[in-house]
Amino acid sequence: MFQLNVLQGIEHSISRNLKEDQSQVPEVHCSRERSRAAWKVIEEYLMPFLEREKYQLSSKCRLHPSNDIFRDQEENKIHVDINEWRCGYCKKIFRAEKYLDQHFDNRHLNLLNVSGSKCLADVCGALHCDLVMDTQSRKTKCNPAAAAKNRHLCEDLADSCFPINQGPQATRLHELFLRQFCDAHTCSGGRKPFSRGGRVRLHSVNTPVWVL
Ligand SMILES: [Zn+2]
Repeated sequence: MFQLNVLQGIEHSISRNLKEDQSQVPEVHCSRERSRAAWKVIEEYLMPFLEREKYQLSSKCRLHPSNDIFRDQEENKIHVDINEWRCGYCKKIFRAEKYLDQHFDNRHLNLLNVSGSKCLADVCGALHCDLVMDTQSRKTKCNPAAAAKNRHLCEDLADSCFPINQGPQATRLHELFLRQFCDAHTCSGGRKPFSRGGRVRLHSVNTPVWVL
């Protein structure tokens, strides 16, 4: 119920802003935070392998950047300093990322890429987004039905993003994707997500360190 109220509140504030801006922007039903988490997982635990294989994702693949409605806004976030976030569109400065997020919602909603794209947050179940989010309370009990659903979604992603009839690279990445993301969707335990490793960025160093 609390969740519902929050959502209604967000919808209300979005529609109010629309009236203020008098622009024709469709309502957004997609979590920016979870989309960002999904993108983080893709960048850290999938991209290094795509780069190694020189593989280009098709835009039909839901993991393709064009299917993330927030991608353009996220790429227009400039993290100048620890408490300084700049909007790449209008150069305004904020002291925390969440205020810049709010600014995007209030001022640049028309810049969302909503043309027929899907919500990247919708694949969070398959990609184990919770593991890269700062969520304090994680479910400790495994739900077999949820695990099966996520596994199915995960395998669909493997099939659509890396069709095995498209050559050896796609076949290798299909296999990698199953091991890296899908195997862990089980309640029988013992399988860890991201078991094949990923790109690790050290705090003070901008150069990626490869752990493959
Ligand atoms: Zn701005």
